[in-house]
Amino acid sequence: MSYPFKEIEEKWQKEWARQKIFSASPSSEKGKYYLLEMFPYPSGKIHMGHVRNYTIADVAARFKMMQGFNVMHPMGFDAFGQPAENAAIKNKSKPDTWTHKCIEWMRQELKKMGFSYDWNREVSTCDSEYYKWNQWIFLKMFERGLAYKKASSVNWCPSCETTLANEEVVDGGCWRCKTKVGQKDLEQWYLKITEYKERLLEDLKQLKHWPDKVLAMQANWIGKSQGVKIHFRLKEDNRIIPVFTTRVDTIFGATYIVLAPEHPLLKEIIKGKPQENQVLKFIDKVTKESKVVRTSSDVKKEGVFTGSYVINPVNNEEVPIWVADYVLMEYGTGAIMAVPTHDQRDFLFAKEHKLPMRIVIQSQSQCASLPEGDQVSAQASPKETKSPEELAEAYEGDGIQVNSGQFNGFSNLEAKIKIAEWMEKTNIGKIQTHWRLRDWLISRQRYWGTPIPIIYCSKCGIVPVLYENLPVELPKDAPFTGEGGSPLGKVKEFVNVKCPKCKGSARRETDTMTTFFDSSWYFLRFCSPKFEKEPFDTKETKYWMPVDQYIGGIEHAILHLLYSRFFTKFFKDLGMIDFEEPFTCLLTQGMVLKDGEVMSKSRGNTVDPDSIIKHYGVDTLRLFILFAAPPETELGWDDRGIEGAFKFLNRVWRIQENLKEKSDDALIRIMHKTIKKVTQDIEEFKFNTAIAALMELTNAIYQSGADKEIFSNLIIMLSPIAPHFCEELWQKLGNKESIIKVHWPKYDPKILVEETVTIVIQVNGKVRSKIDVPSDTSDDKLKELVLADSKLKPWIQDKPVKNFIIVPGKLVNIVTA
Ligand SMILES: [Zn+2]
Ligand SMILES: [Zn+2]
Repeated sequence: MSYPFKEIEEKWQKEWARQKIFSASPSSEKGKYYLLEMFPYPSGKIHMGHVRNYTIADVAARFKMMQGFNVMHPMGFDAFGQPAENAAIKNKSKPDTWTHKCIEWMRQELKKMGFSYDWNREVSTCDSEYYKWNQWIFLKMFERGLAYKKASSVNWCPSCETTLANEEVVDGGCWRCKTKVGQKDLEQWYLKITEYKERLLEDLKQLKHWPDKVLAMQANWIGKSQGVKIHFRLKEDNRIIPVFTTRVDTIFGATYIVLAPEHPLLKEIIKGKPQENQVLKFIDKVTKESKVVRTSSDVKKEGVFTGSYVINPVNNEEVPIWVADYVLMEYGTGAIMAVPTHDQRDFLFAKEHKLPMRIVIQSQSQCASLPEGDQVSAQASPKETKSPEELAEAYEGDGIQVNSGQFNGFSNLEAKIKIAEWMEKTNIGKIQTHWRLRDWLISRQRYWGTPIPIIYCSKCGIVPVLYENLPVELPKDAPFTGEGGSPLGKVKEFVNVKCPKCKGSARRETDTMTTFFDSSWYFLRFCSPKFEKEPFDTKETKYWMPVDQYIGGIEHAILHLLYSRFFTKFFKDLGMIDFEEPFTCLLTQGMVLKDGEVMSKSRGNTVDPDSIIKHYGVDTLRLFILFAAPPETELGWDDRGIEGAFKFLNRVWRIQENLKEKSDDALIRIMHKTIKKVTQDIEEFKFNTAIAALMELTNAIYQSGADKEIFSNLIIMLSPIAPHFCEELWQKLGNKESIIKVHWPKYDPKILVEETVTIVIQVNGKVRSKIDVPSDTSDDKLKELVLADSKLKPWIQDKPVKNFIIVPGKLVNIVTA
């Protein structure tokens, strides 16, 4: 018979709620621990990915509580966004009704999992008590010039019918629906995240407990690069076309330059040329395409010759001007110099269009293989280098300059500096720093989001809504037809408004904010979710923030995680907080797979958490998920694994029937070893090995029988993982208080020391002595103990030790000179 999981789960969930055991408030007696998962979009159902993310967090929360920390573990809903709108159109309901119904469902499902949330802190971003503060933050940014409107060619998802931020375009598609993203000219609201680029980059160094991968992705996205702006002169009329490059060491190999189709000089230089028509057609075609697609590495690059030439300022060579899709106006100067021998993209393009190539950097390995006395020198002639025709690909590495005038023979890294300085001196270039990061486009042409608090007056222009008039509420009765743009524009009572300045008639902005605005600061709101004066109570954030441990998906590495860092720095500048970074430790959990593929509705390979809970209970599901793989890696679903987890819990359940008066010493030692291992492992999020250790302890108990103390420690250590199950056993052992209030057990190092091993000591391969040492003695300590052994004196005295070979747990061999 299996243990009665259903009754137990319901009983303890009710009991925890009744005791308000997870509600947190500041306390000066305990150290604080703020644990947070990326809050979900309320789609209505929780899936295995949620279960995994939240179970990982829940173990950490319960573990920290039992270690005596004051833990805050809140939950809420990232509730604005497109799916609600689509559902409303489909079901002829309202996004508001639909979303609140989903939240209701989801909250119930989360409660069924027994997670240790402080539900008093719940927030939903679609409630005006929340989004009022989005508007407040927007106005603060507007006052400081950090929120502004500009006309530009922007990313457009034709399926979602809205603009997208650069960060929301993933592999050329919309991050939400994967539709190929196009371009559109629109006037839109932006946040000046670029103002914070230096700090966003520099402070990555503070994030010592973030995955390297995420740090690298952010640094790359911010994209700081040092280089030179080179002045290429137009052959016909000496006008300058500036080109930015980070590889000025390759300038002597620049055999053509490429302009962006949007380059302002382009239409002028083709005027009257035979190529004019062809170029115009090309411009027309390319400017409709998504910029992200144009620059992605797996798309073939297209281009045409313009009929014009520039002069390469370092050698006065005539160089043809091309126009190509992969050059963008907004990066660098809208023009690039192409060095096909040392840039793979240029290489492929040059091969395709039969453009000239010249090698200017010789790899050092190539130099080394040259016959003696024939090394590349300052006088290196082109004959000694490989010819461009022999190249199978561009050489992008370091090496020695060749074909580079007075810079021949220098390493390219030296040459980079020398050429840059020489260019500045001779006025043909300028040393510059460039950034990849662009301002953040936040307007969306959709209904279900925070209205942007701006009014347009024909007399006064752009006028911010007054703070006392916040929130600008979403009209509840907007028409949802799915046709003809944003429903907000069709609600006259919303659009028509008096100008706050001149009181004349004016109209409201009908765009709403991207939902990534909402999630950029919710972790601060959780500290004081009902605060009415400002977005958050600074007294509370001073106590709780920063978040000690944040857990979520890697897909947010440069979206949400970058935006949240930006907002945090902004609040610091407003003087509302005194830290720069919101999340001290970050864990990105791996995905849940079935049959080697990501579980997803569209693939039809999902396992419904509900069905597992029904058959085996919540604790079995939690145990399986944690045991199957370490948190950061992918987890392969396995039905037998579920069965195994269930069997294990039942095995533990039965121990209570046969408790002994006193455990034997061997089992006591195993218990202390287990406490040491499980504590360390949970601390480091190695839940799978912690569970393995608990299974070993259980096996040992089955062999020799355990007393109450050992069994108690087993269930205390298992309780963060299988909380309902352990609470019940804890109560059955006669305890009155919740197991969460119990102190985490400590191991006795003295008992562990008693476990010793005998080490055989050899000198130059001959056995000379033996010593007993604790089994966990470090190599350094062992060396010290061995050298102190007086029996070895005759053999090692006066002879320097040359080598010290350790066979762990067995043998040491000292090699003397
Ligand atoms: Zn889309
Ligand atoms: Zn006005």
